[in-house]
Amino acid sequence: MQSGRIIIVGLDGVPFGLLRELSDKGVMPNTKRIISNGIFRMMQSSIPEVSSVAWSSIITGKNPGEHGIFGFTDLSSNSYRLRFPNFNDLQSEPFWNVINGKSVIVNVPSTYPVKDMNGVHISGFVSIDLSKSVFPKSLIPILKEFDYRLDVDSTLAHQSMDLFLSDLEKTLHASIQTCHYLWDSFEWQIFMYVFTGTDRLMHFLWDAYEDRDHRCHFDFLTHFQTIDEVMGEILLRANEKDLFIILSDHGFEKLTHEIYINSLLRKEGFLNFENDKEPELFNIGSKTKAFALDPARIYLNVKGKYPRGTIELRDKGQILRDLEDLFLSLEINGRKVIKSIYRGEEIYSGPLFDKGPDMVLVGSSGFDLKGSTKTEKVIDKRIFSGKHTQDDAFLLVYGNREKINIPDYPMVCDIAPLLIAFTN
Ligand SMILES: [Zn+2]
Repeated sequence: MQSGRIIIVGLDGVPFGLLRELSDKGVMPNTKRIISNGIFRMMQSSIPEVSSVAWSSIITGKNPGEHGIFGFTDLSSNSYRLRFPNFNDLQSEPFWNVINGKSVIVNVPSTYPVKDMNGVHISGFVSIDLSKSVFPKSLIPILKEFDYRLDVDSTLAHQSMDLFLSDLEKTLHASIQTCHYLWDSFEWQIFMYVFTGTDRLMHFLWDAYEDRDHRCHFDFLTHFQTIDEVMGEILLRANEKDLFIILSDHGFEKLTHEIYINSLLRKEGFLNFENDKEPELFNIGSKTKAFALDPARIYLNVKGKYPRGTIELRDKGQILRDLEDLFLSLEINGRKVIKSIYRGEEIYSGPLFDKGPDMVLVGSSGFDLKGSTKTEKVIDKRIFSGKHTQDDAFLLVYGNREKINIPDYPMVCDIAPLLIAFTN
């Protein structure tokens, strides 16, 4: 590769505005230098704006109708059984296989289990078994020596924020140590690492970011300061031929209400369960017209497609219009809950289109849409204080920008083609 190397740092869930603010306020001085000398753009996430879909689109350059990942969950064919798609379900090649330069790929969400590749791969969220998360396997003893963790233990936040923050920092430092080792120990042309603790931190402690008097405010800033030190090290180690990209997969904002879409569908007569005491998807009743999978993917209960499907194809259009009326009428304190409603055909295309939802909703500012069936409440608010946003991820491009064109308002699908163009 004559063009130099590719270095990619992912900051899961970090919105454009937060990176700008922390850079301007002196929390992230190295990132500020990169912004001043690079191209810094707001970027559109996938729809829905969840990491599994967005990172799958980032690494393949394809939409879910082509790569096949529509969410963290999916249904097994012709059933209501939930399954968790993984890297084996991804139907498009990640850019590192297309470029085929030696690559070090660490902690990219939805790349578990790892496969043989030209380089090193440690998979990210959701990774279950360490032995299936590391390629080559010979690296496992070294990772154990560094106390490398596949993810922060988010369940700790429900016990105590201090325990969660301590685990978050241990996870962060072990992963940085691992990256140092991999950077120095291997010849590589592509190095990609995704910080995912940022997403967990913002879910639990967005309020600590906004409120300077919050007792965890400085813990929040410290996490970003540590990440900024890594940016500084990369600036020292990269050369002028290298392309250095920093990006997020979706944005974040304050969460004011959780909205349970299946509870709404149930209340309005679109969804019923065979046994009300067991409100689970596998228990969907034959009066069901529509149901939702996380976060707000709407599926019509079509005859022939699902075991207790009732909807005739000719009636689909009318039911979708009825659902649109319902979702658009939803207001809390005079504010519309749903910002955008997309039909499947507006956002997905490709051979796997039929596997996708019939409709996807994006919530208005503050409203976190949920697909759980386990509550009867339509509106709730639990432990989380931050939620994902669709329209304000970011892309920051620094270094050798010959050969690449960056759209004014890029989308997650634009990244892989840009990387491939750089190496051609
Ligand atoms: Zn998240």
